[in-house]
Amino acid sequence: TVTLRQVAKRFGEFSAVEQLDLEVQPGEFLSMLGPSGSGKTTVLRMIAGFETVTSGSIHLSGTDVTQTPPHSRPVNTVFQDYALFPHLTIAENVGYGLRVGGTNRTDREAQVRASLEQVRLSAVADRLPHQLSGGQRQRIALARALIMRPQVLLLDEPLGALDKQLREEMQIELKQIQREVGITFIFVTHDQEEALTLSDRVAVFNNGRIEQIGSAREVYEFPKTEFVARFLGLSN
Ligand code: ATP
Repeated sequence: TVTLRQVAKRFGEFSAVEQLDLEVQPGEFLSMLGPSGSGKTTVLRMIAGFETVTSGSIHLSGTDVTQTPPHSRPVNTVFQDYALFPHLTIAENVGYGLRVGGTNRTDREAQVRASLEQVRLSAVADRLPHQLSGGQRQRIALARALIMRPQVLLLDEPLGALDKQLREEMQIELKQIQREVGITFIFVTHDQEEALTLSDRVAVFNNGRIEQIGSAREVYEFPKTEFVARFLGLSN
C-alpha cells in the first residue's frame, strides 16, 4: 500500500501540491490525470523521493519513508525519455541496477534473460539502445525497472514520446505486463483516454489538488465537478 497523508509541496511561495490524501492498494493501477502544472509529477517525485515533502507523510507498506532517500525506497521509476545508457548493450542496461547492487554475474544474466522475455525482447539483448525503435526502448526501460522487483512502479508519461499507433499498442502491453507482475503502478498522464483505458482508478488533478478519484467508469460517467467534466470532454 502507498499512503500519502496530508502531503503538501511548496516551491518558495508557490503551492504545487496541497494537503493531499491518497491511498493506492497493492497491485492497483492508478493514473494521475490532469492538465500541465496541476502537480502530478511533483506527487510522483515525492513518492520516489526525488523531491522532499514540505509537510505530511508517505508510507510504503506501512513503513514511513518520508525521510528515506530514493535509492532505499522499494519503488522504481520509468521516465518518458527512457534514459538508457547509450554505450551499454541492452542486456547491460537491464542488468545495470543488479550489477551496482552486487548481484553476481550468473544470477544477473539469468535475471536479465527472464526480464527481457517478460517484455518480449530477448532478440535484441546484444544491441545498443540507438539500434532499437522507440517502443522497444520503452519496453527496455520497463524491464530495467522491473528487474529490481520494486513494490511500486512509478511511470511519468512513459508513452509520451511515441506516435499514436505505437502508443496504443504499448498501452495494451503495459496493462498486460502489469497484470503479470502484479505490482502497483502509479502512472502520470495528461491523456484522458490513456488513463481511462489503463487504470483501475483515476485521480483527476487540478491546481495541486485531487478533484475526483474513482474507477475510470465512475469518473467518466459521474464527473463530480465542472472541471472534471470539462477536462474529460475537451482534452482529446
Ligand atoms: P506536466 O504535465 O506539465 O508535467 P504536472 O501536473 O506534472 O505538469 P508538476 O510538474 O507537478 O505538474 O508541477 C506543478 C507546479 O509546480 C507547476 O506550476 C510547476 O511550475 C511547479 N514546479 C515544479 N517543480 C518546481 C521546482 N523545482 N521549482 C519551482 N516550481 C516547480
